[in-house]
Amino acid sequence: MKIIMLGAPGAGKGTQAERISKKYGIPHISTGDIFRANIKAGTELGIKAKAYIDKGLLVPDDVTVDLVMDRISQEDCKNGYILDGFPRTIPQAESLTEALKARGTSIDHAVDVDVPDESIIARMSGRRACLTCGATYHTVYAKPVKEGICDKCGASLVLREDDKPETVKQRLLVYHEQTKPLIDYYRRENVLCTVDGTQDMEKVFLDITKTLGA
Ligand SMILES: [Zn+2]
Repeated sequence: MKIIMLGAPGAGKGTQAERISKKYGIPHISTGDIFRANIKAGTELGIKAKAYIDKGLLVPDDVTVDLVMDRISQEDCKNGYILDGFPRTIPQAESLTEALKARGTSIDHAVDVDVPDESIIARMSGRRACLTCGATYHTVYAKPVKEGICDKCGASLVLREDDKPETVKQRLLVYHEQTKPLIDYYRRENVLCTVDGTQDMEKVFLDITKTLGA
């Protein structure tokens, strides 16, 4: 079961990927984790990637695809894997398809957790964080006992820069330009399944497992 997670930032795809990983016993793989692991282990690809990261540059697609291919060749991926946060662009998706094809394999499912922009902006703007102890809350889904005050340490809660509507809109803009074309790409590859990500988390997960058919 080889799966790619698609969906806008804030659509909840990370949470769903985690649950799929647990249910089916396949690893949840993010490129951030792969970079960190390879840099820490000092692998050849890790050293290459670090050279770009240290200069504040994006790691080029060919290096990233090599790192992903190396990761999914490992023993724990023999029954499948879930890629989260990769591919992000059409060129990355094409490189991945080619690299998999060269090994006689392909992606089985691309799961799109679909949430309209307005809902994402609304969700994110309800987030509250404690800058003192790092605890996080939500004005609707995870309220603190006393409004605006951290349960754990009593400090005031704030809306982080990252969660402000302006910042979220900017990220969504990048998503629509670069990542959303992947939905059409995987539709053409006949592996796309779209689930309604506005439902509650349990229902979203149920819909995903139905589509995966296991
Ligand atoms: Zn706190």
